[in-house]
Amino acid sequence: MLFFPSTMAGTFNLSSVQVFPCPNCKETINTSMQQCQFCGTSIDHAAAEQSAVSDASYLKIMAWSVLTFFLVMFIPLLGLVGVVGLVFVSYALPVMCIRWWVRYGSIKTADADFPNARGTAIIVTILAAANLLRDVGTRVFQYTR
Ligand SMILES: [Zn+2]
Repeated sequence: MLFFPSTMAGTFNLSSVQVFPCPNCKETINTSMQQCQFCGTSIDHAAAEQSAVSDASYLKIMAWSVLTFFLVMFIPLLGLVGVVGLVFVSYALPVMCIRWWVRYGSIKTADADFPNARGTAIIVTILAAANLLRDVGTRVFQYTR
């Protein structure tokens, strides 16, 4: 039982320190340091790049869910789930895209993963805008008929 408090403290410390691969040199680094001990990249910058990449893959998953909900609309009994889901992601996705650009749009980096992430964000943003226009357009068409 004597070990228990120190184990708890250790767990607490671990959870507040984020460990991630350096986007520049791929060595494992953590947020308790000022800069990467291997290549000197600033941790703030490295952490931002890292979350830019993971958030971009999240955008991609949401974009796929638009297609999934669209297809679900045509499944008997699940149609309503598809309609509700499609409306939800049609409005949530543009918001998520804007958030990505606000947070990460100004990042300049030599990291190979980041241009891919930005490319994903560009494609998803275009799809999200087109899908939102389709959704709004359908509604306007229904009201004006
Ligand atoms: Zn590094």
